[in-house]
Amino acid sequence: MDILDFATGLIEDKRPQLLAAADKVWEFAETKFEEFKSADVLQEILEHEGFKVQRDLADMSTAFVGSYGQGGPVVAILGEYDALSGLSQLAETAEPKPIVVGANGHGCGHNLLGVGALAAAIALRHYMDATGLQGTVRYYGCPGEENGSGKAFMVRAGLFDDVDFALTWHPGTRTAVRSSSSLANYSVYYRFTGRSAHAAGAPHLGRSALDAVELMSVGVNYLREHIIPEARLHYAMTKTGGRSPNVVQAQAEVAYLIRAPRTPQVEEIYQRVNDVARGAALMTGTKVEIIFDKACSNLIPNQTLERVLHENVIKLGAPTWTPEELEFARKVQASLTDAELGNDRLTPAEGADDSPLHASVRPFQDIPGMGGGSTDVGDVSWVTPTAQLRAATWAVGTPGHSWQVVTQGTTTYAHKGMLLAGKAIAATAAQVMADPELIQRAKAELAERLAGEKYVSPIPSEVKPAPTR
Ligand SMILES: [Zn+2]
Repeated sequence: MDILDFATGLIEDKRPQLLAAADKVWEFAETKFEEFKSADVLQEILEHEGFKVQRDLADMSTAFVGSYGQGGPVVAILGEYDALSGLSQLAETAEPKPIVVGANGHGCGHNLLGVGALAAAIALRHYMDATGLQGTVRYYGCPGEENGSGKAFMVRAGLFDDVDFALTWHPGTRTAVRSSSSLANYSVYYRFTGRSAHAAGAPHLGRSALDAVELMSVGVNYLREHIIPEARLHYAMTKTGGRSPNVVQAQAEVAYLIRAPRTPQVEEIYQRVNDVARGAALMTGTKVEIIFDKACSNLIPNQTLERVLHENVIKLGAPTWTPEELEFARKVQASLTDAELGNDRLTPAEGADDSPLHASVRPFQDIPGMGGGSTDVGDVSWVTPTAQLRAATWAVGTPGHSWQVVTQGTTTYAHKGMLLAGKAIAATAAQVMADPELIQRAKAELAERLAGEKYVSPIPSEVKPAPTR
């Protein structure tokens, strides 16, 4: 029985139910560690399909694992379902129009990610039944990928200890498998406390926490010149001390994301940022509390698995797009700047085409470097061989974390990309499960890349997952 045919048939049979689930998660648009309704939708389908679901894992009530089968090999299929704050946007509307101003939106396509991975787990479970393929398929319901590193907490809790390999995907503008890394990061809050006073009547009695936040920014801006160029330091002022300039601000807080290729490099920069924060407190006569929020590790690619996944994507081929789909994608593109479109342009060697929706599969890419982003898939990839694909779900040029992503999240073309990912992951999982030698090679590749380095959780043991502070 050909697994690609099987997975295609099964997933197409369940298409209405899968699309409805992705659209529901889009509508719920719940952010990190509060994805209650979204997790329910996925758990219900898993249970209906005969999976045993364990909920409330690793101190996160929206983390879960659905399991089918028994014994080894064990494959982990990773799903996400969290949204981003502030990105509320009407569906299928090619101009910025929030449903509710300031509300959440699926600006990274995780409604598709969670359900595409679910489709794969379900197809694989039926294939195991039909063929007697031995092993266990687990769907990992991973909450809070955005600013939460849910998977890093799940890895720390040992939930991946007996896993033989892991597969996942991410929505994007291209259908592609690429071998590259991502940046490790720390997320840290710096909370300054001063003393309030009448800003005109008795300014000498006040100690401004807002001044401390500003001076910390100045210090970090100077620090940027003296760290490795691959590192990234970004910040958001999460509390400014109120809206009254005539009150000396007693409370202010700033959140920093510190990124670098490897965790020890992040740690070194983190210590220096802490010194800057202490300096700002000293200068302003305030106190600073340093609150470690979460962290994730860099991604270790695994070409042994990636090449099997790529073969399957090639065999499935890119989806074909209808004139209506191309028309809407063109409208979305009209809202993008030339720079945004140019940032996503392919060279002829990379399979360039003019279609507003990527109409082919990119050749396998081996990029030893890394992009500027981070993912908590990184932590999984340290403890078990891991591969992922991207499937075209958005118009070419669409930047991540934008209203354009949200508005395309329920389109028929996004659904097509999602189901393509499900089929490719199901087929790859089945082939690898049936081939113990391939699993050994994938594990050997991971060991070789780590060169004796052991996984240490980048999150201190006392830090627990927390919703937005
Ligand atoms: Zn994402």
